[in-house]
Amino acid sequence: MLPARVAAGAAGRVIVDTHIVSVHQETPIDRTFQLAIPSEAHTAFQFTPGQFVVVHDPREAKPRRRAYSISSPPSTAPFLELTVRDMGTFGHAFYGLPAGTALAMRAPAGRFVLQEAPGERVLMVAGGSGVTPFRAFVGDMQARRATTPATLLQTAQQAEELVFHERFTAWAHTHAPFTYVPTVTRAAPEHPWAGRRGRIDAALLHAHLGAPERTRFYACGPAPFVQAMLALAEEAGIPADRRHKEQWG
Ligand SMILES: Cc1cc2nc3c(=O)[nH]c(=O)nc-3n(C[C@H](O)[C@H](O)[C@H](O)COP(=O)(O)OP(=O)(O)OC[C@H]3O[C@@H](n4cnc5c(N)ncnc54)[C@H](O)[C@@H]3O)c2cc1C
Repeated sequence: MLPARVAAGAAGRVIVDTHIVSVHQETPIDRTFQLAIPSEAHTAFQFTPGQFVVVHDPREAKPRRRAYSISSPPSTAPFLELTVRDMGTFGHAFYGLPAGTALAMRAPAGRFVLQEAPGERVLMVAGGSGVTPFRAFVGDMQARRATTPATLLQTAQQAEELVFHERFTAWAHTHAPFTYVPTVTRAAPEHPWAGRRGRIDAALLHAHLGAPERTRFYACGPAPFVQAMLALAEEAGIPADRRHKEQWG
C-alpha cells in the first residue's frame, strides 16, 4: 500500500495519490477501475453524480492529464470508480493498468450533474462510453429510492459493447420509476440481439419525453453524437436551460 499524499493543484484543487484497488471487465472494450480515496481527502472528494476527475500517471516525466466521469454513485465512498474505454493513447494505456498501480487524481469537478425536482422527469441519452456518468445518476437514484421518473437511452455499435447493460436491466426490473432502452446500431442481421436496433431518433426520444418543459435532458458521449442529440432535444421543445451535455472524443 502506498503512503497517502494530498497536495494542492491548479486553482487550489486537491490532488491525491491513489492506487487501483480492483479492475472489472465490463465489455470487450471497457474496464471499471476502483480507486481508493485517502482518508485525508474524503471531504475534497465528495461529489455530485455526473462529475469527473482528472487523472495522471505520476511515473510520466511530462504527465498527460485526462478527465474521466465518475461511474459510481457517491454511496461507494471512500472508493470511486472510473470506467475506461480502450480507445485513444491515454485511454489505451489506462485500460491496460493492473490492480495496485499508483495514479494521481484531482478532486471532482464539473457541472453536468443530476438535478431533480418534484413533478419533473430525467431523460438521459448515452452514446458509447458516454454512459459512465449515468451509472452514477441511476445508482444514486436507486440508493435513495428516488421516485423521479428517469429514462436512459443507451446506444452502442454492438450489443456486447452496451456498458452496464445487465445492471441497468436489473435496476429497471426492480425500480419502477427507471426505464432502460438499449439500442444497437451495427449488429449483424444474424446476431441474436433481441432488443431495439438503430440509432436514437426523434421518435424514440418523443416516446420517453413527457412534458418538454418538465424534462431534464442529459446527453453524453462522443461530440457528434451529443450534438445530434441536443438538436433532437431542441426540436422536441426542451428549453435550453434544461439541455445538459458532456462530450469527448
Ligand atoms: C469530462 C470528460 C469525461 C470523460 N469521461 C470518460 C469516461 O468515463 N470514459 C472514457 O473512456 N473516456 C472518458 N473521457 C475521455 C478521456 O478523457 C480520454 O480522452 C480518452 O481516454 C482517450 O484518451 P486520449 O485523450 O489520450 O486519446 P487520443 O489519442 O487523444 O484520442 C484519439 C481519438 O480517439 C477517439 N476517442 C478516444 N476516446 C474515445 C471514447 N471514449 N469514445 C469515442 N471516441 C474516443 C477520439 O476521436 C479521439 O480524438 C472523458 C473526457 C472528458 C472531457
